[in-house]
Amino acid sequence: MDCRQAAKRARVHVRTCAILAWMHELSIAYNLVEIVDAAARNAGAARVNVVHLRLGAMAGVVEDALQFSFPIAATGTLAEGAALVIEPVAVQVYCDRCAAPQTLAPPFVFRCPVCGQPVVRLLQGRELQIEAIEIEESAAEKEADVHATAHP
Ligand SMILES: [Zn+2]
Repeated sequence: MDCRQAAKRARVHVRTCAILAWMHELSIAYNLVEIVDAAARNAGAARVNVVHLRLGAMAGVVEDALQFSFPIAATGTLAEGAALVIEPVAVQVYCDRCAAPQTLAPPFVFRCPVCGQPVVRLLQGRELQIEAIEIEESAAEKEADVHATAHP
């Protein structure tokens, strides 16, 4: 195999891995959109403008991949065209020796960053929570408002 062939193979492999990695976020995006769409319908919304999501650093979700996947999953739903605002949540553990919560930095070795004691209690960092959605009222309701203004 010459260098060009090897390079081509490597590129195909990398691309396949990237697609496989995105499929995880894509399935999460579909799941999120399903929840958001149902909530918006229950609220009588015409469409969803913004989805606020809390994402833990240890949730196992790549933020960029989720941002990429969200509009694909939202197509044809009330969330189509909505912005996805992600609030990152740091990893926090409780250290028994320090008797205090401590924040871990990547690569998230479960030891207290202050005293070095192994820690087991995770306080936060695995969140994948829809915090809020901003919706637009239904067109029917708006029409009713306009009607009321036009004919007081
Ligand atoms: Zn400690």
